[in-house]
Amino acid sequence: MQGIGVEVGDGTLTVAKLSLYHCRIMFDRLPDLFDPIEFVEKKRRIQGRVPLSSLDRVRDVLLRLEGDAEVDLEFKREGRIPSLEGFVAAELTLQCQCCLEALTWPVRSEVHLGVVGSIDEVSILPEEFEPMLVEPGGMVALADIIQDELLLAIPSIPQHSRCRLSQPEATAESTDHPFAILAELKKKPS
Ligand SMILES: [Zn+2]
Repeated sequence: MQGIGVEVGDGTLTVAKLSLYHCRIMFDRLPDLFDPIEFVEKKRRIQGRVPLSSLDRVRDVLLRLEGDAEVDLEFKREGRIPSLEGFVAAELTLQCQCCLEALTWPVRSEVHLGVVGSIDEVSILPEEFEPMLVEPGGMVALADIIQDELLLAIPSIPQHSRCRLSQPEATAESTDHPFAILAELKKKPS
């Protein structure tokens, strides 16, 4: 018997190396769906890359589908509030709506989400948190978090700065965020 080690070629993987290898695998295999409260209790961290081509809502606005979104989210508690903090980053290739050429659009969005179980709880969130409404035991799709962050960072009319300058009456940008209604509620005293 050789214990827990695994024989590889002329050597043996030590238990320490084996667990490091295991961690790498876990980083690459991101959860599709997760229970945010469970992840907070376990102090989990999600780190890895997701192909842009797998993000159906973002895919529609991209000129090129190659590349990944990078995600790093820590699950913790801010006081009593379960939270997700980290960032979502990607280099997107959009289409300039003026010259129709490719427009490289780097995004790095800081994530500060506070998990709330009901609309009533939105008002107790500190200023810096965006509410993420999750019913008790409810699951969240990682792709939705990534897509919401990326879509928020994409202008409604992507244009090169040189193209915008040649077009003085450019339309004001507007953003549409799924949590915008909750954010409005948060501003109102309960
Ligand atoms: Zn252009």
